[in-house]
Amino acid sequence: MVEGPPGRRLSQLARLEVGVLQGCGPVRQRRLAEMGVTSVLDLLTTYPLRYRDQRRLAQVAELVPGEAAWVRAVVRRARLVPSRGRQRVELVVADSSGALTVTFFNQRFRLRQLPEGTEALFYGPLQVFRGRRQLTNPQVDLEGRRSGRIAPQYPASERAGVASWEIAQLVEEALDRAGRFADPVPEAWRSRLGLVDRTQAFSGIHRPERLRDAALARRRLAFDELLRLQVDVLRRRLVLEAGTRGVVHRAAAAPGGSALVRELLARLPFALTGAQERAIDQVLADMARPRPMHRLLQGDVGSGKTLVAAAALACCAEGGYQGVLLAPTEVLAEQHHRSLLRLLGELEVEDPGALGGRRPLAVGLLTGRLPAGQRRQLLERLEAGQLDVVVGTHAVLTPAVELPRLGLVVVDEQHRFGVAQRAELRARQEAAGRAVPDLLVMTATPIPRTAAMTVLGDLEVTELDELPPGRQPVETRWLRTPSEQAEAWERVRQEVAKGHRAYVVCPLVADGGAKEAKAAAAERERLASAELAGIPLGLLHGQLPADEKEAALAAFAEGRTPVLVATTVVEVGVDVPEATVMVVEDAGQFGIAQLHQLRGRVGRSARPSWCYLLASELTGETRTRLEALEATTDGFALAEIDLELRGEGTVLGTRQRGRSDLKLASLRRKHRGLVAQARAVAEDLVGEDPDLTAQPLLRDEVDCLLGGTGAYLGTG
Ligand code: ADP
Ligand code: MG
Repeated sequence: MVEGPPGRRLSQLARLEVGVLQGCGPVRQRRLAEMGVTSVLDLLTTYPLRYRDQRRLAQVAELVPGEAAWVRAVVRRARLVPSRGRQRVELVVADSSGALTVTFFNQRFRLRQLPEGTEALFYGPLQVFRGRRQLTNPQVDLEGRRSGRIAPQYPASERAGVASWEIAQLVEEALDRAGRFADPVPEAWRSRLGLVDRTQAFSGIHRPERLRDAALARRRLAFDELLRLQVDVLRRRLVLEAGTRGVVHRAAAAPGGSALVRELLARLPFALTGAQERAIDQVLADMARPRPMHRLLQGDVGSGKTLVAAAALACCAEGGYQGVLLAPTEVLAEQHHRSLLRLLGELEVEDPGALGGRRPLAVGLLTGRLPAGQRRQLLERLEAGQLDVVVGTHAVLTPAVELPRLGLVVVDEQHRFGVAQRAELRARQEAAGRAVPDLLVMTATPIPRTAAMTVLGDLEVTELDELPPGRQPVETRWLRTPSEQAEAWERVRQEVAKGHRAYVVCPLVADGGAKEAKAAAAERERLASAELAGIPLGLLHGQLPADEKEAALAAFAEGRTPVLVATTVVEVGVDVPEATVMVVEDAGQFGIAQLHQLRGRVGRSARPSWCYLLASELTGETRTRLEALEATTDGFALAEIDLELRGEGTVLGTRQRGRSDLKLASLRRKHRGLVAQARAVAEDLVGEDPDLTAQPLLRDEVDCLLGGTGAYLGTG
């Protein structure tokens, strides 16, 4: 095939107003604008919702009741039948095979349009009424233009006063006048992936000759949307990384790997899960490279993420670098501090200043609660390089904290630690003439892989999709009526009697804060004199001062108050292995991810455990949510269901770049393969060149549809 002219670019069509079309006068233009269609590109990306297959031209005698088809027939008789209220035009039409009645209600003009002797095409389902074969209000085609085709049905807008056929007409004109389209995807990739070219795609979606054309066109245009998104995230990543000097963790690159990591693993009383082994390998391989690591570690509650973090921190310390672990709350920071002391505290690092050249690996905790004296001391040790690992909240990464040899930042439970924070961290390090640390982000609220690859395209994803052996899945029950719910309270009493613990999560209260705290306190009072009478009940909510929170958690952990009545503050990270029951009141209010997180507070030991979701009978999405939680404890599966239920909005922030460009493509399961293909093509085409010098068409298109390169830093 000879290469034709370069063809239309989407950016050119974006600059043409729909008003340039002959069929589009000022009134129509205004109406289209109300539907958000201002450019020719907007028009051409207004895709049909469905098609009406009008190809079949049948004989009158062949028509089957209930089935729609076109017939070509001559009007034999036409008359106006007076009837109560509405006017009825009745025709008798016939072809060589037979005759039938055609009835129009309130369409008196049909008498003029279809006088006796007219030949026309009629389309509609055949009805049999009192033994008479007839079509009621059929579509009529006098010129035979619309028949014999697959007719696109556009999203018409009644409010704006734009009908499907008007859009169809304008699209026809636009396509005729646009001619061939330029294609940013090279022929080699198209044929490898079985993608039709742009020209075929636009004509196939708007005027397919076969339904298969429309399907192929949709796939290609959906692919293009995903490709643009992938190109966008890859470019951002390249810009972010251009010229960055990362830390090379030599221990990770050493033959046989990091000695400290080996020692850490050898001391464990258990074997790693396969997923942990893979994750640690991936993380250490990243750390050995000069390019800063940016990896997301997704793993369900209890999958053992802390150990992966500990291995990375040990490797970091072995090379004389400092590692930071950031937690979302002080309680969690303290918990991590304890875990890391246990895991890393007995390891030794080299220190030329120390006696014998070695000293114990030092782990510190930096929170707002630290008394001033201790804080100063800690900061001094950090500055002097005597602390290898520091755990804290995000306050650790402020300029007041000097980390002269920062090599690794681990962020727990915050996958929104995004581009902006990363850029800031980099800027700070570079301003000080230092290398950019590696970054490991951990989350127990996984994002489906397809979505992660798109939204978080600038990071690598590792999944811990395996729980340590011996864990028993939390038995989850949705209890609808007070008599069913009695089972939950009975279970709480039984488990408490065995020396175990239970959480009761109170309903959400509008405006949260003080009102919610008050409601939780009231619920505790109520339970104390009703279902849970005689059991000491603790109370935990966000309004308590830090020391009272801590006291409440300690009393619960030690069993002095074996039941903790709480708000959703227990959602993240609270770790009391003796807890075996979770009761969630008014569970329909909570989202899937939140309920899954709450449930993660129990089942943290080998004991059997239960999660009771209290909610009266529900319908629709809420019902599906609770049923999903009953059916599975797999966070990845639940994340997929959440995405199916709530759509892309759950993972794409409202201001996410490219969101409005997703018209055909979906990040849901159905397009998983397409996302991966778009990713591969994007990686190939972008290469190491964020300016896309070799791909001007693609650059032009991504800039135009996703809003230019100006914002490559500091967004997301
Ligand atoms: P999470 O992924 O929720 O952060 P943790 O890292 O807190 O999980 O691990 C949960 C518990 O499982 C901890 O008590 C930890 O010691 C234990 N654990 C981690 N890995 C394993 C393993 N491979 N085998 C047995 N227990 C493990
Ligand atoms: Mg954790």
